[in-house]
Amino acid sequence: MVNRERLIDSFVKMVEIESVSGREGRFKDYLAELLRQRGLQVMEDQAGQALGGDAGNLLAAWPGSAKGPAILFCAHMDTVQPGIGIKACVTGDRITSAGDTILGADDKAGIAALLEAIDCINEQNLSHPDVEILFTVGEEQGLQGSKQFDYQLLKARMAFALDGGGNPGEIIIQSPCQNEIEYTAYGKSAHAGINPEEGINAIHIASQALAAMPCGRIDEETTCNLGIIEGGTARNIVADVCRVKGECRSLKRSKLDDLTNRLINIFKEEVEKRGGRAEVQVTFLYPELRLDQDEPVVQIAVRAAEKVGLKPVLTSTGGGSDASIINGQGIPCVNLGIGMRQVHTTNEYILIEDLLKDAEYIMEIIAQAAQA
Ligand SMILES: [Zn+2]
Repeated sequence: MVNRERLIDSFVKMVEIESVSGREGRFKDYLAELLRQRGLQVMEDQAGQALGGDAGNLLAAWPGSAKGPAILFCAHMDTVQPGIGIKACVTGDRITSAGDTILGADDKAGIAALLEAIDCINEQNLSHPDVEILFTVGEEQGLQGSKQFDYQLLKARMAFALDGGGNPGEIIIQSPCQNEIEYTAYGKSAHAGINPEEGINAIHIASQALAAMPCGRIDEETTCNLGIIEGGTARNIVADVCRVKGECRSLKRSKLDDLTNRLINIFKEEVEKRGGRAEVQVTFLYPELRLDQDEPVVQIAVRAAEKVGLKPVLTSTGGGSDASIINGQGIPCVNLGIGMRQVHTTNEYILIEDLLKDAEYIMEIIAQAAQA
């Protein structure tokens, strides 16, 4: 079965190799070498150049002997900050950072567990179908790596992302699509004390527009937010510009589109009727993930969970992941909970039990695919 000491060692080594977004190079080289040692064919794509980072996405192919469908596993190589000088501490039932950095179980727990699964399958001479592995860069900065990747390179028609925050056994089959929205109101500057009547205050008219717009939870599948506001140049000058950054999300594309249009129209109308000029820029960040329970990829994830004694829980989440992008490319992709806890904080940790279970679960997914 899974080799506890080897997996812990391998995970600790991985988290102690720095790989903050845009600087994944050293970790990417390390992984490429591990994959090659195990007989996988490895290539790196051009995402590094495109994104101005020092590494591209890694794609590895593990040709199989079993008949089942080719499957893809995906995990991201980058971490958030503070991620420099990570020291992993194995204490009792868990692995934590030393307290001054994140741990990086997000997403190295997924990567370490996957490599352990490969080692176990090789050692036990188990048959497996064609397995492809995509290790992405820049996930934490808006899924940048997975957006750059060329999905034509893949043989797999189903995928498992190893990047969920929940318990092993949690299978994310729903997540929202998202628009980023930047609103700008332009007014006219004037001296605040001498001739304010000649100015149009962009901050004031933008605030009236914002007050007329919906914000927060719209319905059970739809939300929107205003996150950043800035404007003006000095206390005594009528502000001639005000910029606001916001977003909206929905599990349904039609609701996202409707809400986005509503927000744009209200902002423009309210700013213009007060003599200002409005600009709104919308960027579509990622598509929705919406899989049916009887989708083969979901079935395999559920069966494998049951087989290794995990409770399969089909669930939804409020954010995007590489699974959103892969799914948007027509490859049904679930995102699996791997037990990383309090991610993006210096309190991040993972239970050793969960890390071991992850490896066992991945082995069983491969076994189930071989039989499918
Ligand atoms: Zn992650």
